[in-house]
Amino acid sequence: MFEALQDGLSGAFKTLRGQGKLSESNMRDGLKLVERSLLEADVSFPVVRDFMKRITDESVGEAVLKSLNPSQQVVGVVYQALIDFMGPVDHSLHLKGKNELTVLMMCGLQGSGKTTTSGKLGRLLKAAGRSPLMVACDLQRPAAIDQLHIIGEQLDVPVFSDRTQKDPVAVTKAAQAHAKKIGADVLILDTAGRLHVDEALMEELKRVDRQAMPDQVLLVIDSMTGQDAVNSAKAFNDALELDGVILTKLDGDARGGAALSVKHVTGVPIKFIGVGEHLDALEEFHPDRMAGRILG
Ligand code: GDP
Repeated sequence: MFEALQDGLSGAFKTLRGQGKLSESNMRDGLKLVERSLLEADVSFPVVRDFMKRITDESVGEAVLKSLNPSQQVVGVVYQALIDFMGPVDHSLHLKGKNELTVLMMCGLQGSGKTTTSGKLGRLLKAAGRSPLMVACDLQRPAAIDQLHIIGEQLDVPVFSDRTQKDPVAVTKAAQAHAKKIGADVLILDTAGRLHVDEALMEELKRVDRQAMPDQVLLVIDSMTGQDAVNSAKAFNDALELDGVILTKLDGDARGGAALSVKHVTGVPIKFIGVGEHLDALEEFHPDRMAGRILG
């Protein structure tokens, strides 16, 4: 994970260390290498700009330059900036009491990992003593309904679907009634995705949102798609007011640009990360641990 960013940053720090005492111009040259690593990691441009301003302001000054170990100080400055840019995070799903229905609305582009992540959350909730009901609201692809049923069977978590229905709002309404009937306390809505953000998708999601009145709207994005993931997060947030992002496929992401950019660009925190295809491969997102991983 994040090998490219790790290598780039450690190269920059190594250059700084090699200088011993640092002049302002040595420091600026070292920071240029940090900037290059961020750009190569596909970090969004405004994030690179703001990040560089922050670390330059904190590094190019007497306090750091005249310190005993300036290069080590810069590592600390970068570490703290990474944490601040990726956080803070409220991991809570804000579940209501067990006698009320909490609704989690999952959205995201096709292939982002939305259905898999719905299953991962279902597993987590079941393990926490909850009674989740997963709902197949993706009526674009019949295969999506089958996929959710397969996941439900694997986890022994019930799935609601209606293959005769063309309207996800009607499915949502029926699922709310079904949840009451079977005593489910968390509804996980697996909504439709598209290959790209488009008006029809956003309209559909807004209609589902109005019917479901979700307690949490969670956007699933694929970290491997870098800045595109961040741009789609911005579009989804404009339409739906997201509560959190779940960043998937981090296990295969060598660059890390999306992880670093999403919070700063959208204001929405990453709550969880997907780190594998298996249904137990979901972790809470901790900016400090992530910053530690990035710095190696
Ligand atoms: P959807 O179209 O958004 O519902 O996406 P899917 O849930 O069908 O996932 C698309 C592909 O990504 C599947 O092959 C999943 O197994 C895979 N996938 C989802 N999350 C992760 C993850 O965190 N890591 C890895 N490596 N693969 C993932």
